[in-house]
Amino acid sequence: MEDTKEKNDGYERFCMVCRRPESVAGKLITMPPNLCLCQDCLQKSFDMVSEQVDFTDPNAMANLKIMIPPEMMNQNQVKIKLKKKEAPKPKEDAVDMGALNIEKLPAPHEIKAMLDEYVIGQEHAKKAISVAVYNHYKRVKNQELPEYQDGVTIEKSNMLMIGPTGCGKTFLVQTLARLLNVPLAITDATSLTEAGYIGDDVESVLSKLLANADNDVEKAEKGIVFIDEIDKIAKKKNAHSRDVSGESVQQGLLKLLEGADVEVPVGATSKNGMVPLTTVNTKNILFICGGAFPGLDEILIDRLTKSASMGFNSELRDKYDKDPDLLRKVKVEDLREFGMIPEFIGRLPVVFALRGLDEKAMARILTEPKNAIVKQYQKLLLMDEVKLDFTEEALLAIARMAKERDTGARALRSIIEEFMLDIMYEIPKDQTIGKVTITKEYIEGKGAPIIELRGN
Ligand code: ADP
Repeated sequence: MEDTKEKNDGYERFCMVCRRPESVAGKLITMPPNLCLCQDCLQKSFDMVSEQVDFTDPNAMANLKIMIPPEMMNQNQVKIKLKKKEAPKPKEDAVDMGALNIEKLPAPHEIKAMLDEYVIGQEHAKKAISVAVYNHYKRVKNQELPEYQDGVTIEKSNMLMIGPTGCGKTFLVQTLARLLNVPLAITDATSLTEAGYIGDDVESVLSKLLANADNDVEKAEKGIVFIDEIDKIAKKKNAHSRDVSGESVQQGLLKLLEGADVEVPVGATSKNGMVPLTTVNTKNILFICGGAFPGLDEILIDRLTKSASMGFNSELRDKYDKDPDLLRKVKVEDLREFGMIPEFIGRLPVVFALRGLDEKAMARILTEPKNAIVKQYQKLLLMDEVKLDFTEEALLAIARMAKERDTGARALRSIIEEFMLDIMYEIPKDQTIGKVTITKEYIEGKGAPIIELRGN
């Protein structure tokens, strides 16, 4: 200790990772050139490395060196070979894309049929995404098979989904990834920043993807990345100063969308600290961006009515205003006008829109999907040998309430949970109850559910 104090001119040393001074962290370990580490951090880094490195693999061992934070010295981060995990068994209703066998690749109509079991309505979007995904994985295959090397390269089919909040954008992607058994990472564009700013840098999303692929780089490289709220990184209009935030995040995403080798921290979202890095190539990662794009409809209507003569203008506006599929007419120029930079839109060649959900669709969401919330409650009560029913009007009443909240299908669960609380509490009390029917009156607070006794 004496010796250390002398060497450090009376200043206390601190751990370069956790920043605790020696008096708090305990005796520090020194390493050349001038690195100090506390025992906790050293142990943590050993643990992390031993989890991820296959010590029986001589190549991995040869590549293995200690990681040193960049602020302490020139970036000496070292890549390690990740352990190859055994591929998990595909889920029950998943098609195994692990081998990406083109023979096994489900055709677009089969992908759509699988989506139909979970996602209500949104026919156009389901069709568009099925074709795009099919083409995407065919493209991946194209690169792998020698007989397809005829000079024709298929371009990447990254997608842009436009649709109001709660209409199923995220759900569609989640369902797709689950059915195809490919890893998925979801991120919010608003949480992304340019490297060097506070927040996650754009590459952090690949870290998530890698984690969701059980750290299997090969699997992650064929995964899907969903970037939500992409409209929030549009360039601000009429901004006098240069709008750095949104535009630069769009810029930052360009190379990922296109395909690049990216150094990705394993098991953390930041490149600082003693975190091992690995390289992920984004060439075959399917990027899907989604956003509500508020105000895009107005931009579209302005464009569509511009050429109409004065008299017809308001008539046309009216017609477009009522068109539920208006956003399907969106063109690159409208997105540019909205504030997306051309290079960014250029890397999302497949653009499609989802409709806002009406009450009927919301009522169907309650009961029809394979994992519908009403089916879940029915299953729960069936375990108590009680049958649960909802009248058609009750479902529509719930849908109407959800619609008023203006958050799409997202409100459905919280509304139904409010009503079911009492039912789920009271029913198991009484062993004689055989059936409960939820009525519109109960939902509207004007009556009770219909209770039928067992044996009736
Ligand atoms: P967003 O469009 O804002 O991404 P989400 O996909 O997060 O909306 O939707 C919220 C929830 O609503 C989903 O988790 C899903 O349960 C339900 N949902 C939304 N749209 C649909 C749909 N078309 N079919 C079935 N469920 C849906």
